[in-house]
Amino acid sequence: MSEVIYARVPSELKAAADEYARENDRTTASALAVLIDRGLRTTSTIRDLERRVVDLEGELAAARARAGEHEATIVVLLEKQKTLESAYQALADRMGKGLGRCPACEGPVTGQDLLVSGRCPNAACQKGLASLLVSQPKGLDERELLLLIGALGLVLGIALMQTKNE
Ligand SMILES: [Zn+2]
Repeated sequence: MSEVIYARVPSELKAAADEYARENDRTTASALAVLIDRGLRTTSTIRDLERRVVDLEGELAAARARAGEHEATIVVLLEKQKTLESAYQALADRMGKGLGRCPACEGPVTGQDLLVSGRCPNAACQKGLASLLVSQPKGLDERELLLLIGALGLVLGIALMQTKNE
């Protein structure tokens, strides 16, 4: 079924339509029908593309927002790591300091000997140092022991706090 459209168009448009009809071996009316149909399809395709662009812009904005949140999380985690590292560094420094003397051989004992190996570092002695903490505190420098426990407590406190926050 076909209908008739009467339309007044500029002379240039009419001339271009005539030329298109000649080149494609059609009547002007049939050429115009083809051109109008093609124009309408193109317009609808452009409208679809415009809608798709709007959708994609929305998706991009959401992805950017998520990336921003992830960046903020990374900054917080790096800050936590820095705090823990500096507390850990303080503990590591403190662990290497002389803490007192071995109750058996009188050799020097560090925080690391007491808390990590638990033994006198003197190869000839190697006596367990656990007794230093409970029954024989006389072998220890009390001030150094308190500083060591303070540094250890700080690391444990930060680690515990960070675990709770996560
Ligand atoms: Zn010893």
